[in-house]
Formats: sequence, C-alpha cells, structure tokens
Amino acid sequence: MIIILLGPPGAGKGTQAARIMAEHGLVQLSTGDMLRAAVAAGTQVGKKAKEFMNAGKLVTDEIVIGIIADRIEEDDCKQGFLLDGFPRTVAQAEALDILLKEKGLKVDAVIEMKVDDESLVDRITGRYTCAECNQGYHDTNLKPQKADVCDSCGSTNFTRRADDNRETVVSRLATYHTQTAPLLPFYSKQGVLRTVDGMADIDDVAVQINDVLNEL
Ligand code: AMP
Repeated sequence: MIIILLGPPGAGKGTQAARIMAEHGLVQLSTGDMLRAAVAAGTQVGKKAKEFMNAGKLVTDEIVIGIIADRIEEDDCKQGFLLDGFPRTVAQAEALDILLKEKGLKVDAVIEMKVDDESLVDRITGRYTCAECNQGYHDTNLKPQKADVCDSCGSTNFTRRADDNRETVVSRLATYHTQTAPLLPFYSKQGVLRTVDGMADIDDVAVQINDVLNEL
C-alpha cells in the first residue's frame, strides 16, 4: 500500500504518520526528517538544503526526488510506505508516478488533512519534541503529564525545530498554497484523493484516516 499524507505544515501529518506506522505496519518516509538528518550530519545534500529550509522555502525537486528514489529501493519499503511531506510540487508528484510505474506500483490513496490557516501558526510555534524518543508535545495543547518529563521515555531533554518560528511559518504556509495545493486537483483527477478534517482532535483524525485505509 502506498499512501501520501498531504496537508500544510502543522496539519498533524507527522503525528498521524507515527500512528499509522504502528497500526498498519507501513514505514514512514518523511523528506523533512531526512533533510534535517542530512543538515545535522553536514552532508552535501544537507549543506544545499539548509538555506532553503531556514527560509521556509522548498528544497529543489532534484534533491528530494533523488532522496526518495534511493529510499524506496530499501528492503523495508517492499510492503509499501507512507509518504509524509513528499510530494510537495506537481513535478515531484509526476516523478513519483514514474518511479512507481517502473516498479509496477501506484499511489493507492492521498489523504488530505484539511486545517484552517489561522490555527497553524499557533500549532507550529508551540510544538516541541522529546530529544530522545521524538514524542511530540505542545506548549498549550499537549503538555507532558509531569512538567518537563517525557511521558514516553522519561527524558528531560526536549527540542524545537529551527524552522518552527513565526516568520518561517508564514513563508512555509505561503509556499504550501502556491506550490503544494495544486497537488489536490492533480490527485483528484487520478481518483485517489480523500479528505479528512484535520481540525478534529488527534484521536478523531486517526479514526478518519483508519476508515480510509480500511476501505482500500
Ligand atoms: P517538513 O518537516 O515536512 O515540514 O519539512 C521541513 C522543510 O524541509 C520544508 O519547509 C522544506 O524546506 C524541506 N522539505 C521537506 N520535504 C520537502 C519536499 N518534498 N520538497 C521540497 N522541500 C522539502
């Protein structure tokens, strides 16, 4: 099964992807996570990507298509995968279709997580994660049960993304509307687009997504 989670930054793609991975055994491929790892490791790709990411702009299609083309060759992708943050342009979507076609595969469903723009700035600027286990939290909506201690692993080490500041978020949202939103008609034409209400609470969104996956 090949699934794409589509939605603006802060829609909850990463949170839902983690749940889908656990429940459906699909591997999560997040180009954002891969690029952050490349930046942290100081690779050539990381050096090229860093400036775009810090400005809230998209990294070039060539770089991300290359990353995904390599990643889907790995063994853990054989049973299918869940794309989170890719594709983000029509050119990436077209390249993905070609890559999959070569393997006799196709996208099974694109799940759009629909969220009001107004809620996204607060969602993003308030979010942080456990530096050890990556569990996500939020300053107001999702605090750890014991202050400053991760519920999942007990760590007291937390981290925020460099690009989760107000200025960059505004740029990332604009980028979503101009470059990524055109994927909605692209996948609608293919008959694979499903929309869920991303404003609902986390458990409700998970139920809506499960309903889509169980129909496939
Ligand atoms: P994300 O973690 O998905 O919010 O991605 C963080 C940043 O990584 C984005 O703002 C872009 O700069 C870059 N990025 C991630 N995925 C892509 C992609 N598919 N195409 C271009 N840039 C990307």
